[in-house]
Amino acid sequence: MRPEVTDVTADTPQPVLRDRYGRAVTYLRVSVTDRCNLRCFYCLPRDCAVPRRADPLSLEELAAVVGVGAGLGISKIRITGGEPLLRPRVIDFVRRLRAVPGISDLALSTNGTLLAEYAAALKAAGLMRINVSLDSLRPEVFRAISGRNDLDRVRAGIAAARAADLRPIKLNVVVMRGVNDDELPGMIEFAAGEGAQVRFIEYMPLGIGQRWESSYISRAEILERIRPQLRSEPPRQQPGDTATYYALHAGGEVGIISPVSCRFCELCNRLRLTADGKLRPCLTSEGEVDMHEALRPRISLERIRDCFHAAVAGRPEVGSYRTSTGPQSSAIPKPMAAIGG
Ligand code: SAM
Repeated sequence: MRPEVTDVTADTPQPVLRDRYGRAVTYLRVSVTDRCNLRCFYCLPRDCAVPRRADPLSLEELAAVVGVGAGLGISKIRITGGEPLLRPRVIDFVRRLRAVPGISDLALSTNGTLLAEYAAALKAAGLMRINVSLDSLRPEVFRAISGRNDLDRVRAGIAAARAADLRPIKLNVVVMRGVNDDELPGMIEFAAGEGAQVRFIEYMPLGIGQRWESSYISRAEILERIRPQLRSEPPRQQPGDTATYYALHAGGEVGIISPVSCRFCELCNRLRLTADGKLRPCLTSEGEVDMHEALRPRISLERIRDCFHAAVAGRPEVGSYRTSTGPQSSAIPKPMAAIGG
């Protein structure tokens, strides 16, 4: 059954895809590559076979999908990966998406290692905001997590984003026990000094070859660790945003994203387009809609539309994670780098 397509209100005559649980879908995360130049152990581990190279969509194909999505009410796009700045012509892609009517929010997630080279060009191409993943400010911990000695490059990338006025800059930190959980107050101070906002993310049981059970830390525990820096006022939730924001004594806010302890499925407004050309209804489920037949040998706008409807129809009410002790432990899920984080 096709999900409903409705007009939201008379004031905003934009059609909106709505799933069978009444949630509007207005946000598409577009993975432009499954390649990454880091090997974060929780995402694309070094000790596992690297997944088979995906059959990537061309930038023209990706832009066609975004264009059709915009016609169906998608207004927010995040370019992600893998590491999106590894994708050739990514700047052209940003420029192209910025020109798509209906796209009012265009963001990109990066590990920051190439950002010093790209920040000014991204800004000039029309990128509106940027998220940088940064799990540690200690060179040895950064290296232990990511397999690379690139902390200085990431810091230079953040400085370049600031210099290019690519704001707001959000720093995303996956919090892991015994790895970086003693750095949380320092991360808040570092972000403030960079004119950025930090968001702590609960470690999700996705990917392969990870140590999730012993490393996971809940939002409640993260809050305990940063309590002295927080004001006592109630937290704030922004519509369409998965983070909960807490005011800081020093000014500004810190965000916490808690996909494990406080699921936000009822707020979910997103689909993902994976690097190998699949529309994924939910981060945690394997059900995907293959776009290739809608795009090859010729791009068919009607069939792309059908793919959107099929993906929206496939959204579960609530997602479910795999854990190594869970019933689905024998299946090897795609790592985040392949899904598009
Ligand atoms: N390379 C880009 C980056 O580093 O932001 C985009 C892709 S990366 C997969 C997107 C985000 O997913 C990163 O912030 C990463 O830390 C996060 N991520 C990957 N695996 C995760 C997990 N198991 N739990 C929580 N966050 C995860």
